Amino acid sequence: ARERALAQDTAPGATADGHRIALLANIGTVEDAHRAAASAVEGVGLFRTEVLFLGRTDAPGLEEQERAYRDALAALGGRKTVVRTLDAGADKPLAFATQPDEENPALGVRGYRLVRTSPALVDGQLLALGRAAATADGPDPALWVMAPMVSTPAEARDVATRARAAGVGTVGVMVEVPAAALLAREILAEVDFVSLGTNDLAQYTMATDRLRGELADLLDPWQPAVLRLVAETARAGLDLGKPVGVCGESASDPLMALVLAGLGVTSLSMSPGAVPAVRFALRRHTRERCAALAASALGAPDAAAARAVVLAGADPEV
Ligand code: PEP
Ligand code: MG
Repeated sequence: ARERALAQDTAPGATADGHRIALLANIGTVEDAHRAAASAVEGVGLFRTEVLFLGRTDAPGLEEQERAYRDALAALGGRKTVVRTLDAGADKPLAFATQPDEENPALGVRGYRLVRTSPALVDGQLLALGRAAATADGPDPALWVMAPMVSTPAEARDVATRARAAGVGTVGVMVEVPAAALLAREILAEVDFVSLGTNDLAQYTMATDRLRGELADLLDPWQPAVLRLVAETARAGLDLGKPVGVCGESASDPLMALVLAGLGVTSLSMSPGAVPAVRFALRRHTRERCAALAASALGAPDAAAARAVVLAGADPEV
């Protein structure tokens, strides 16, 4: 009964005292865009475009890409849609965009670093996105574009320059390596927004392969070291008045969502099925209470203690 009641609630995400936190969907295909549109999400916070091109031997052409992006935007009917440029390499190999001979692919040419080896591929994708945005219905700009695996302000500036030249209006980068979190202020000076990828941020902060299940205790986003980098990034966003979202798996944990809200994160993106429980959790707490929970998590000595202290302080219904 509780599940059903939660699923029928379609209100926008907000704390008990009305601070809005947009609840967004993670998608990988145009079909996902249709499914997300049918659920009560406010938009898409992460469109993993590499999923469109998995298993292919050649790079997709401009027209094919443009069609896919336009179809996804149309499915979402003008709701905000954050499209991520190709995140090839490491755990997401693409035959046409991955270096075959890397010893440490997670530390190699992956994510936006693709621009070093295949700048035409990156510029082509940005052009297709710019064209799709220009012909999309709905509020302008519904399409936001962000680049993955950015480590420096110079890379952020490069993304912004290329994206704007391609006609993309709103440009951001993911914060998923510690260097980017530590320099979030400088990075935000170059772009319109950032989105925290806590899956990779945990991997790189804790030096723990995200594909190794036996190290899950280290990979935990509740690790205080990871939380402090998230806090640093959120603080920079608040100070500069720019959006800071979270699109890693941690956003789908209702207790973590309270912490993220307390740190000042402006949107949470997750698989649509996780949204109702997060919406419910946020509505049971004021922002001040979320901030207190966040402070207690940041001060905890380890991941288990961080989660336990938030569980103890949160509304028992969550
Ligand atoms: C992340 O790293 O948290 C993220 C959202 O991106 P992906 O899982 O696709 O690497
Ligand atoms: Mg990532």
